[in-house]
Amino acid sequence: MNAITEKQGFWKKSHHLDKMTFKELVVAYFQYPAIIAYIALSFVAIGLFAWRPAPLWPTLASVGISVVAYPFVWYLLHRWVLHSNWMFKFAPLAATWKRIHYDHHQDPNHLEVLFGALHTTLPAIAVATAPIGYLIGGFGGAMAALATGLITTCFYEFCHCIQHLAYKPKNKLLVEWKRKHMAHHFHDEHGNFGITNFFWDKIFGTHYERSERPEKSPTVFNLGYTEEVAKKYPKVAELSGGVAKGHPRYRG
Ligand SMILES: [Zn+2]
Ligand SMILES: [Zn+2]
Ligand SMILES: [Zn+2]
Repeated sequence: MNAITEKQGFWKKSHHLDKMTFKELVVAYFQYPAIIAYIALSFVAIGLFAWRPAPLWPTLASVGISVVAYPFVWYLLHRWVLHSNWMFKFAPLAATWKRIHYDHHQDPNHLEVLFGALHTTLPAIAVATAPIGYLIGGFGGAMAALATGLITTCFYEFCHCIQHLAYKPKNKLLVEWKRKHMAHHFHDEHGNFGITNFFWDKIFGTHYERSERPEKSPTVFNLGYTEEVAKKYPKVAELSGGVAKGHPRYRG
């Protein structure tokens, strides 16, 4: 249990998506502190925009560029920060890496660690959106871009939840995203880094269907944090009570 689940009443209970209905997910989603923070901060950004607005075209451009930049920044972070195996080598970053990605790959249905951690997501969202918005439309542009980044994050997190929820979406696109994200978790983690957008996977050649990669990645569940590696960099193992082996379905 982490600090958040200890403190918040509703989140005292762990939530597992494989045992939840769509309705239960929606209820849990809107009670999660980070989601509430994104929604509240997007209202603040919209309020600040209303106070010092940018003209129409710079506003639209700021929103548009944020929508386009978002999946690119996510791709860069997911591939080269979360999966490139350098964070656990620095003791001060090891706990963060464990929280923001290792734990999710260890227990993919566990809602509390599926969501990004606010102290890492907020700076990333702000840095990826506000400066471009500022260059395009000054203060108003920065606020429009920031609000777009925050709202897009809510959308991403919700789609990511649905991908791990034990149900088959009716929407064709959702089914396709889910299939690709499941391959990232259970077949080969070196690909399909997108969540709702696989454009950058296609550009960088990391997009795949299971049939195109017959071999299952040996590190798909431990992300390369093996017992060997743990001997040299023990921090994550210490925090996790050992090195995980085998399929996440058979663990807690
Ligand atoms: Zn991943
Ligand atoms: Zn996932
Ligand atoms: Zn669990």
